[in-house]
Amino acid sequence: MAMATTCSHLSSSPFFHSQISKTPFLHHALSTRRQPNSPSLLRRLSISSSSASSAVEPVTTSQKQTKTLPFRIGHGFDLHRLEPGYPLIIGGIDIPHDRGCEAHSDGDVLLHCVVDAILGALGLPDIGQIFPDSDPKWKGAASSVFIKEAVRLMDEAGYEIGNLDATLILQRPKISPHKETIRSNLSKLLGADPSVVNLKAKTHEKVDSLGENRSIAAHTVILLMKK
Ligand SMILES: [Zn+2]
Repeated sequence: MAMATTCSHLSSSPFFHSQISKTPFLHHALSTRRQPNSPSLLRRLSISSSSASSAVEPVTTSQKQTKTLPFRIGHGFDLHRLEPGYPLIIGGIDIPHDRGCEAHSDGDVLLHCVVDAILGALGLPDIGQIFPDSDPKWKGAASSVFIKEAVRLMDEAGYEIGNLDATLILQRPKISPHKETIRSNLSKLLGADPSVVNLKAKTHEKVDSLGENRSIAAHTVILLMKK
């Protein structure tokens, strides 16, 4: 789903707010303020990396978890519409194609779902809530900014990447000529050894929007290990 839709849809969702109160880690992290569900607290999850002068505090995760697990698993999913006139950016690499992703940021479906996998493993809100599309500073932002923040949160929580397995789903263009470049760049962005970052790609058998070259999707599963 496009970040714009993800954010606006979920940030106002009762489900999201009920999940906050059910999540000991996040509830604890947020309980330092008076109202766990208030927009100001959600805003605190926004980062200030693009603006040193920003007054927004980065979220702090260290020593906040009520339960320390040796491993944490996260899953991420993302989908974007493909439209003519936009670049197709996958894993930070510009892939030649006759269309690309229309999105608030650069529409990098792979990096978005990797960010969501990391955030999910940490028990944090999703990418749409941490980088809201209502904030103009994320318009056209390179998604590497989101990856760097997710890695910072992971480090702060005391975890490192065990391994990551991602699957891209798109009908065209063929990803095989670009796969190693994408995988290598993703490893670099994550600060992870390339041997623990796996990337697969498949078509959608010409059915539905994915198979008709009208959208692109990605899944990621990640294992985090306590440092
Ligand atoms: Zn996205």
